Amino acid sequence: MGPPGAGKGTQAVALAERIHGAHVSTGDIFRENVAKETELGQAAKRYMDAGEYVPDEVTNAMVADRLAQDDAREAFLLDGYPRTLDQVAKLDQILADLGSGLDGVIALTVVEDELIGRLLERAKVSGRSDDTEEVIRHRQEVYRNETAPLLAVYRDRGLLIEVDGMGTPEEVGARIAEALSTRA
Ligand code: ADP
Repeated sequence: MGPPGAGKGTQAVALAERIHGAHVSTGDIFRENVAKETELGQAAKRYMDAGEYVPDEVTNAMVADRLAQDDAREAFLLDGYPRTLDQVAKLDQILADLGSGLDGVIALTVVEDELIGRLLERAKVSGRSDDTEEVIRHRQEVYRNETAPLLAVYRDRGLLIEVDGMGTPEEVGARIAEALSTRA
């Protein structure tokens, strides 16, 4: 977990490899579907472009399908999901149905000014239609309102692992590895 620009994607790819698990990024799946102009892509695009969350029913159904696939059976890393309390409840149900569960929830913490700066930098190269300054600021606000409250939920469950997300990707990756090794 972490606000837009915290470096979730970068760290998630590396960590999924390390745990030999499927990397399940809801943002990536939505973008693929937008690019291929599928029905799902068409349903998601206008929300993404506005910096809003895609409706929970759409996102939850997509994650349920994805986690049922073979490559996610042994291990998976969720990147960008859950982001709402409704998604937390639905994820609990999906995992219970699969006889699975979460080992931990990693949250990257980064100060907001740094996040905006990173996203504006990324905007120059990403070509992502949601990387304009106005939408970037809105995405931070949506995160604060909708997703930040999830941290307390996972903290109460004893699953939350907070990691300082400032510094280079290598530094942050090393901190994640360290946090996981002291936990295991
Ligand atoms: P970031 O976290 O940097 O904004 P993502 O690639 O994770 O980027 O997500 C991009 C967009 O995809 C989000 O702004 C949102 O519209 C949509 N999205 C991704 N994950 C979810 C989710 N769990 N629930 C609803 N919408 C989502």
